[in-house]
Amino acid sequence: MEEKLIGSKTVEQWEKEIPILADAAALRETFWINPHYKKGKAELSLCGVSPADMDDASARLTRFAPFIARAFPETEKNKGIIESPLQEIPAMLDFLKKDRGVQIRGRLLLKCDNLLPISGSIKARGGIYEVLAHAEKLALERGMLKESDSYDVLLENSFHNFFRTRELAVGSTGNLGLSIGIMGARLGFKTTVHMSADARQWKKDLLRSKGVTVVEYDADYSKAVEEGRKLAGPGCHFVDDENSKTLFLGYSVAALRLKTQLEALRIPVDAEHPLFVYLPCGVGGGPGGVSYGIKRVFGSAAHCFFAEPTHAPCMLLGLVTGLQDKVCVGDFGIDNKTCADGLAVGRPSSFVGGVMDTLLSGEVTVSDEQLYYLVHELADRENLWLEPSATAGFMGPPGLYGSEAGKAWLGEQFGGAAGTGNATHLVWATGGSMVPAAEMRKYYEMGKGA
Ligand SMILES: *Cc1c(COP(=O)(O)O)cnc(C)c1O
Repeated sequence: MEEKLIGSKTVEQWEKEIPILADAAALRETFWINPHYKKGKAELSLCGVSPADMDDASARLTRFAPFIARAFPETEKNKGIIESPLQEIPAMLDFLKKDRGVQIRGRLLLKCDNLLPISGSIKARGGIYEVLAHAEKLALERGMLKESDSYDVLLENSFHNFFRTRELAVGSTGNLGLSIGIMGARLGFKTTVHMSADARQWKKDLLRSKGVTVVEYDADYSKAVEEGRKLAGPGCHFVDDENSKTLFLGYSVAALRLKTQLEALRIPVDAEHPLFVYLPCGVGGGPGGVSYGIKRVFGSAAHCFFAEPTHAPCMLLGLVTGLQDKVCVGDFGIDNKTCADGLAVGRPSSFVGGVMDTLLSGEVTVSDEQLYYLVHELADRENLWLEPSATAGFMGPPGLYGSEAGKAWLGEQFGGAAGTGNATHLVWATGGSMVPAAEMRKYYEMGKGA
């Protein structure tokens, strides 16, 4: 029998040549440093999105703020800007050091996207942005709207009646569907969400209660996207999580806001005060967009690391093999079954993989047991409640300071761990506040004494 080739090699050849692939296939937790990383900002313009596009996205969100403030009263106090707090979490830092027996230097912050208004996850950045960008485009083309208008006019019936004749669709493991569905329905769009088998019941129920059509699949995320894409007719706007530059730009704006928040806390970011950011990764758009923004804003003073479940390390496989979306976790015998909503993705975005190939500093992978454990410990120590996927980034600092690969890299970059005494470690919490209390309780219990 002829052996199956992945790219030009067999699994055995890959695993022999690049040991981290053997670790990944064996579901071992790993820490990886990206050998293709390039210093400097030149790479930012090579990927089909530009820093100017990011400013454009930021300005668009500002135009929509008067609409958002009125349509979603919980955003009123922040004047219709959908943003989350940044918080120092010293007790969690102590826990990580003790639990892992690792001397982590610098301080630990949490970016609380679990508290983002409207949809309670990082998808409230990209997903909502793409719906708004599409609505604006349609209304401008129709001559119903000018960029100089106060966008709360979008609440008027004439707009609702117009958008009602237009269709939106998306394929999702849940959280993107929530963002697209909630905002799409609020503007009036006929919205369909194609949900993968792992999507939670409460998300489907919530969307249906808002008049969104939910189509359920007995298959994984890639299939839900593929079917959704196929079923979307010519007049339908399909939000393409695997390829959308609009989504990506919506996420990237986070970095401009982060800069302001760090300044308010008087936390410098420069060569002597490096910033390490750890982001949970599914298909890649969210963490990729945010990282792109961070590299634009902070340059080589910032280092971005992705975190993936051991059962779904699709971006790691895509980057390590260089095959991007031509490889999936199943090729390495990995089952793509994880408790981490939003991260249960078997095949990465090739667009994002291409962008991150030279911008990403590294990756960490995390077991499901560890994710539950982190949910439990974060709740006990900081009274912060995240969904399991949102805790993946916490394994970044222990990986960086505790693994051979991490230690070698710290040696090269900073002359050793001690050179990062002024560092800021930022874990990006990507979701949690919409999770029903009973469900959250279950996560918490699952992590007891793991
Ligand atoms: C979607 C999601 C991510 C990752 O975003 P991708 O764009 O799929 O990489 C991380 N955490 C949570 C909670 C998510 O919903």
